[in-house]
Amino acid sequence: PKVVGVGKDKSDRATLDQVLDARTRLVLGSLKRRGIIDDIEYCISTGKEANVYYSGRPALSTDSASPSALAVKIYRTSILAFRSRKSYIEGEHRFKGEYTSSKNPRKMVRVWAEKELRNLRRLHQGGIRVPIAIEQKENVLVMEFLATGESASPRLKDAELSQEDVARLYSELIVIMRRMFKHCKLVHADLSEYNILLHDSHICIIDVSQSVEHDHPRSFDFLRKDIHNVHDYFTRLSRGDIGLLSLRRTWDFVTLDDIGLSREQELGEEGEKRMSQILYEWLSRAVEPENQLEDDTVFMTSFIPRHLGEVADPERDVDLLQSGNAHQLIYAQMQGLALRPKLAQADATTTTDNSSPTGDAEPNGDSD
Ligand code: ADP
Ligand code: MG
Repeated sequence: PKVVGVGKDKSDRATLDQVLDARTRLVLGSLKRRGIIDDIEYCISTGKEANVYYSGRPALSTDSASPSALAVKIYRTSILAFRSRKSYIEGEHRFKGEYTSSKNPRKMVRVWAEKELRNLRRLHQGGIRVPIAIEQKENVLVMEFLATGESASPRLKDAELSQEDVARLYSELIVIMRRMFKHCKLVHADLSEYNILLHDSHICIIDVSQSVEHDHPRSFDFLRKDIHNVHDYFTRLSRGDIGLLSLRRTWDFVTLDDIGLSREQELGEEGEKRMSQILYEWLSRAVEPENQLEDDTVFMTSFIPRHLGEVADPERDVDLLQSGNAHQLIYAQMQGLALRPKLAQADATTTTDNSSPTGDAEPNGDSD
């Protein structure tokens, strides 16, 4: 999306009229009457699927904890905007039956906005920095406006970073990705420097309407893409000066059940610090550059099975496991895969087994 500078000009007006159909204007009117937003002042960003607008804190607001300014994300209701969203929402058990056809675009776009609200809340509960989600009505999502000074906090893409910042933010983001996957049980599915804001010197995750449950049929593909985007961006910025994990080892760091910390330790107050210490240890273990490249190429082109029924050549994989080459299997140590008990031979440190007998991922009860 195009990020529009502060100010009101004719082109802002034009986009406003184009996006704000009569029904959306009614929704905004009712949000304003209820004291949730104030007038829409200007457009922060115009995108293919949504525009984001700025609204001041409503004069009526009595809640002292409410943010001082708001970002109002308005999803487009045009049919074109849906096509690309379909693959994300299909396969989501949270939305079963709700998104079945394109017969009712208003309803579909509402589901989309609702999904962003719920994902933002889940991430927030999981201790990940996101804008506070305030309200969603039809195709309108109201959230905290993340500001640096007078303007919107910059996207990571536009932020000016020292090399120290780059190293620090890299580690912060890898830890966030693990948190998101292991604890919030979500895959962002559009993670890149465009959907991360630099706010208060920290990484703030945005744009989570397409994020999927970790057990979504395509979640592994989405996660691999996310890892790739993040790796690409930091490779460019580090200019070879900062150590990064290979794609494959990033995958392991994000998805492995056990990186040497208990669940309580990871979730506790010191969790972020503890996980970055482990990451630091991983980074200081040298990897041959030639190996790494080969490893990553295999990683990017491998099919990652979700359960045993999808393993293409189980015999080959069992051979790998028994010959002590479990590390060549991308999925070998992931939760819920029935191959894990065999790992006891290959990897003596893996002693616990909580995988289900069928190898299917545990269904995740959605608590929100
Ligand atoms: P899109 O689907 O159009 O990519 P995003 O959620 O990524 O929608 O928002 C588009 C842009 O709007 C972001 O890149 C960011 O610059 C700005 N933006 C979005 N949410 C906020 C927010 N809460 N505070 C400040 N700026 C925001
Ligand atoms: Mg975006």
